[in-house]
Amino acid sequence: MEDTVFMKIVKREIPADIVYEDAQTLAFLDIKPIALGHTLVIPKKPFENIFDIDDETLSAIMRTVRKISPAVRDAVGAHGVHINSNHGEAAGQVVHHLHFHIIPRHARNEFEFWPETDCPTPTSASEIAEKIREKIV
Ligand code: AMP
Repeated sequence: MEDTVFMKIVKREIPADIVYEDAQTLAFLDIKPIALGHTLVIPKKPFENIFDIDDETLSAIMRTVRKISPAVRDAVGAHGVHINSNHGEAAGQVVHHLHFHIIPRHARNEFEFWPETDCPTPTSASEIAEKIREKIV
């Protein structure tokens, strides 16, 4: 299978503005930032998303997210960060290599959060909760 663009960054085959690296993870600036300082954190191994990653590697990624989030915030004088991650094309995942976005935020009015639409609820919450409990392995 051909390497994703993020594996090419891990292998230093293409350039990136790398801000942090350890044995399991890499963090670099997003090439099309939503806000100045928008950073991505990835595993060095090519896991696709939350559906195939192992617990230990995910923990390593979250350690890196926690470690660098204050630096990302402070480097641009922001007051908060969004930590976002898309899993699967239906959820907007474009690069098929797991990644967390760290997006600095300065003020609540600079972004659109969840759309203010009502979720259609043909099934009751208790039925959905029961289905989720049944699917947990
Ligand atoms: P997603 O929609 O969650 O898969 O987001 C993929 C992200 O990867 C987008 O925000 C892109 O701007 C970013 N991206 C794609 N190629 C590169 C690259 N070569 N270097 C840095 N970021 C990239």
